[in-house]
Formats: sequence, C-alpha cells, structure tokens
Amino acid sequence: MDSQKQQGSINVTSENIFPIIKKFLYSDHEIFLRELVSNAVDATQKLNTLASVGEFKGELGDLTIRIAIDKKKKTLTLSDAGVGMTAKEIDKYINQIAFSGAEEFMKKYKKDANAIIGHFGLGFYSSFMVSDKVEIITKSHKRGKAVKWICKGDTTFSIEDVDKKNRGTDIVLHLDKDSLEFLEESRINELLNKYSRFLPVPIAFGKEQEFKDSKYVDTDKDKIINNTQPAWTKKPADLKEEDYTAFYKELYPMADDPLFNIHLNVDYPFNLTGILYFPKIRNNVEVQKNKIQLYSNQVFVTDSVEGIVPDFLTLLHGVMDSPDIPLNVSRSFLQSDQNVKKIASHITKKVADRLKDIFKKDRELFETKWDDLKLFINYGMMTEDKFWDKAKDFALLKNTEGKCFTYEEYKTLIKDSQTDKDGSLVYLYANSLDDGFSFIEAARNKGYDVLLMDGQFDTHYLNHLEQKIEKSRFVRVDSDVVEKLIPKDIQLDEKLSSDQKTNLTPAIKSQLPSEHFFIQFEAMQETDKPMIVTQAEFMRRMKEMQQFSGGGADIYGAMPDSFNLVVNSNHALILKLAEDVEKKHGPQLAEIATEISQLKSEKDSLDKLKEGKKDEEVPQEEKDKMTELDKAVEVKEKGRDEILEGYGKDSDVVKQLIDLALLANNMLTGESLSKFVSRSIELI
Ligand code: ADP
Ligand code: MG
Repeated sequence: MDSQKQQGSINVTSENIFPIIKKFLYSDHEIFLRELVSNAVDATQKLNTLASVGEFKGELGDLTIRIAIDKKKKTLTLSDAGVGMTAKEIDKYINQIAFSGAEEFMKKYKKDANAIIGHFGLGFYSSFMVSDKVEIITKSHKRGKAVKWICKGDTTFSIEDVDKKNRGTDIVLHLDKDSLEFLEESRINELLNKYSRFLPVPIAFGKEQEFKDSKYVDTDKDKIINNTQPAWTKKPADLKEEDYTAFYKELYPMADDPLFNIHLNVDYPFNLTGILYFPKIRNNVEVQKNKIQLYSNQVFVTDSVEGIVPDFLTLLHGVMDSPDIPLNVSRSFLQSDQNVKKIASHITKKVADRLKDIFKKDRELFETKWDDLKLFINYGMMTEDKFWDKAKDFALLKNTEGKCFTYEEYKTLIKDSQTDKDGSLVYLYANSLDDGFSFIEAARNKGYDVLLMDGQFDTHYLNHLEQKIEKSRFVRVDSDVVEKLIPKDIQLDEKLSSDQKTNLTPAIKSQLPSEHFFIQFEAMQETDKPMIVTQAEFMRRMKEMQQFSGGGADIYGAMPDSFNLVVNSNHALILKLAEDVEKKHGPQLAEIATEISQLKSEKDSLDKLKEGKKDEEVPQEEKDKMTELDKAVEVKEKGRDEILEGYGKDSDVVKQLIDLALLANNMLTGESLSKFVSRSIELI
C-alpha cells in the first residue's frame, strides 16, 4: 500500500460478521482484553523469536506491554513494543478476517516460535464487542512508515500514514456507551488478574504505590501485574518442594497446604505442562470442585474444567497449560476436541502413576494421608475404569484398629476366617467406631476383622467393590448376630424348646419400643449377648443410598427403619426367663395347651375325612365345624398370649434385656434411657 490515505472494504465472506461477533462469538464481553493482551504478547514473542534467529538485529529495548485508561476520551489503549505491522500486513492480517497471522508465523518458524497464543484469527475483532471505534497505530520492526487503521465497527475502514517513534503497536479502543465499566481501574485490574496473571511478557498497568503523609500515593514506578515465570513453566529439577507450595499459595492464598503435587510435562504427542495438587479435602465435595485453572500458553482460558478432565480430577487443584487446548469460543467445542480427550486420559494416568510412586516409596506417608486421599481415589476408581486398573494396587482399606491394607493384602488376611459356606468372602465393616462398638467387639472376639467405612462416600463405594472383587460381599457388623454374619455349615444346638419360644414371643413383644421390631430366635454361643438388635444389610443400604442421592420418596427411602430383635436361645438368662414363665403360669398354660391340641386333633380328623373328596362333596355341616374349630384355636391362643403379654409387661428383666440391646446400638435415648438407669439401680 502507498502512503496516501486509502479507503477499502474489509474482506469478509459474510457481510454481517460484526453483529455475529458482538452477540455470539464470545458470551463474555470481557474477554476482549484477554485477546488484545494475548496479541500484544504474541507480537512481543515474535520479535524475540526473530531476534534469536538473527532476523531482527536492532535493539529489543523495553518490551513491557502497557495498558492505559483515558477517562475523558473514553479510551482504553494497549501498547506493545513487538513486531508491529506494515500497511500490507494490516491488510492481510486484520482486513481479512479469520486469516490468522499467528498460524502462518507458527508454520514458518515451527521450532523457534516462542509460544504464540493466537490460532484462530478472530481475537482482534472481539474488541468491537466493547467499542464503537478501534484504531491501530503500528510501526513495524521492518523499515517503513507507521500506519493508522481506523474502523467503526462496520465493514469499512480507513488507513493512513502517521508519525510514530517507537516500534510496536497501540490499539486504541473507543469504548461504546454500554462498556464504560472498562474505564474503571478496578475492573481492568480484575480482568488482568484473571486472564493475564501468568503471561510471559511484563504487563504494566498503573503505578506502584507508597505510603506517604498517611495515605497511599502513586510512585513513578510502573506496576507489573503478572508473574512472567510461574512455577509450571520451570523444569521440575529446578524446583524444590517449597517452591511448589509457594506457587500453590499464590494460586489459593486461603487454602491449607496441599498433600502432594504432580508436575505435568509432556511434549509429545501433545504439549502439556502444569502442576496439579492434591488438596486437603474437607467435607463438602462440591465446594472443592473446579479449582484447576486451564491455561493456553500462560493465558487463562477457564477455571471450569468439568467435561474437559474426568470428573474425579476436578477435585484436584492447580494449573494445566496446553497450547493444544484451543483458546476457543465454546465449551462444547473444547469437549469434543481430540487433543482435549487425549490430555484427559494422560492426566488420569499421570495421577495414578504419581500416587503409585508415593505408595511404593513411602508407604507410611501414604497411609497417614489416606483419609484425605480416600474420597478422591475411590471416586476415581468408581468412575474411571482406567484409574481403577492402576489404583487397585495402592488403594487401601482401613480396619477398625486403624491398620491399612491393600486389597490383595486384605483378601489374604480374611480368606481363612471370613469365607462363607458358598465360598464368598465376607468383608465386615462398621460406619463408625462408637455406634457399632459392641458388634465390632463381638466380631473381633470371633476372630473376624472389621473395616472402618466412615467416609461420606463409602456406602456407594462398597457397592462398587462388591462388583469389582469377585465373590465378595460387604456386610455391616450390626446387620446380624455374629453367628450369622458369615454363614457357615456349623449349626449350634438350641436349648430353648419351641414351646418356650412360643411363650417368650408375646412376653418380649409387649415391651418392644415400636412395631418396627421383629423378634427372631437364634442359637448362639452361651457367651454371646442375650438379646441383640440388628438391621438387615440390604434394606439399610438402600435407605442410605437414597439419602445420599437425596432423591424424592423412593420406596426404600419412604419405608420406616425396621429392626430385628434377635434372642439368643442358648443364653442362660433367656432360659431362666422361659423357666420363670413356666413357674408362674405353667399350669394355666398347660391347660390352654391341652385344649388347643384337642381342638387341633379334632380338626385333623375332620381333615382326614375330607381327603380325596372334592370341595362340593364335603357337607356344609363339616365345613362349618372346621371354621368353628379354627376360631376356637384362635381364641385360645389369644387368651394365652394375653397372659404372656401380661407377664412381659410386669417383667423388669424383659425390659432390661431389651434396653441393653438397644443401648448397644445407641438406640436408647431420652426418657427411655433415664428409666433404664433408674431401673438398673433398683435391680442392683
Ligand atoms: P490470532 O491472534 O488468532 O492470529 P487475531 O484476530 O487476534 O488472531 O489477530 C490477527 C492478526 O493480527 C495476528 O495474527 C497478528 O498478525 C496481527 N496482530 C494483531 N494484534 C497485533 C499486535 N499487537 N501486533 C502485531 N500484530 C498484531
Ligand atoms: Mg489473537
């Protein structure tokens, strides 16, 4: 192009590209600043590259990028001392939208191109999202005059020669009336801090301040807003543990120290650097998510990495930087990008390898951090098969004594004692040490080992383990009496007779705390407890999962908790109770029993007569007699049960035994508890 003023038309395929840019290209208008700063960095890096290959021989001078606000003129100006553009280049790179100069430069100087940010060729035009007029005043590092390009956000532009002393480019935005927020220093600071905090070229905005005459005043010194050499751009060998921690604090000033870090450093088949940290996870999973910041050549892209990395990795903190993750417009584009997918699976592998490494090198340290790592690792194992494959060798199970085992080690530990009669391994667990203590103790006394599953996520995870570990089953210690937790072939003799059980059932029932308790007799050891409250594994787990997922009233969620009151039919106190019932009501009960058995034998003989006859052949008279007999038995039984209930209601022993069983499950509270205490004192 020549030196006189020229007019021309911007070369676009679609006439209406501006409205598209304004409305749809970027949903966030604020990213114009990211794009312009990135271009300034690119221009500077290009100059560095040219200097390093000897194509630029002049003085580099001060390469600081400067940003200035003029409130009166309503302009925002970005100035760099980079390569600049000739009129020809403006025509090529600016007038022809979507023709990315960065792309071309990258191709030509593949090896030497110092991390060029732009790839897409639309970044510059994002300035029209906030401006009604944009000027480019630029002087190329090559010979020739400086030029000024002006465009008012339509498809025409003007270009003319101007005077400009220094090499480089000024981009002057005349902010439109809806974008005056970008005249506020605080707003620009906020954006620079968000997008440009770790860019590799110094960026000056405003002045350093000093405390003078009891207030802060500007000095002459430029304030540099970025750290041009963040830790992840350095070599792992050049960093000490303190440097990693210091960088973590730079990212998250309020957080606790991290547990471990992983320095990512890949250059083939894609480019990826970064540092990931295992945070100390507090209770709430949601709050901790989305702390990874994604960068592309040190330009911040997003801090919402969901969908870009596997879900469990979103619990990690830190930064990832990859020029292969396009600084792009939409998230759906990012998610479908092949490089992004490869990166995700690479990181999964890296994280697993790092954990394995720590486990191997310092198992003790690994164990001390297990409680903090557990949620993260188990979540990953549950949601990513590839992670499971690696993590199954170092994931731990912790028992109620605080000992840790790998899955293999634990299998070996319990194989002999905890295999049931069908050959399944039964893993016993408790959700807390306190709640299930008497059950844990009973199981331990029997030579079983009990795992502690006290994490918020553990119930879900053990469902997964059951599927993954062949022939395995998880059973909470209080889901049954110890004799039946792990069904084996051995059956104990039972001392209580069936008549005695019939007698005891109504007596005990009369004192149960609610109708959600079911009485069940079990032949246990004499040394086991006389009565035990259990809750069936299946029902309990279904209800827990329902609570965890927080859904509506699913059938399990809506059901009341139901419990078994298991009575030890070999315990001396139970036998004594049965004898006492016989002593007090023996003759009366015997009489009723004889009457019932008479009625029953009468019915039996009628049944015999009926044999071989069709229903219509049985005389009505006989049928009526049968119904009558059934009713009579019912009445007798009811009478008997009333006597027994009466016995139970008056019996402190029955009440005391039930309360003791409830107490062992932390189910005795309030008034019942204080009554129990006074009754105990009286009994002593
Ligand atoms: P991209 O950065 O993806 O290439 P942009 O629309 O942001 O696309 O910029 C288009 C081109 O304009 C750049 O590739 C570059 O050649 C040129 N350009 C933009 N800003 C500057 C600048 N500050 N200095 C020199 N050249 C620039
Ligand atoms: Mg760009």
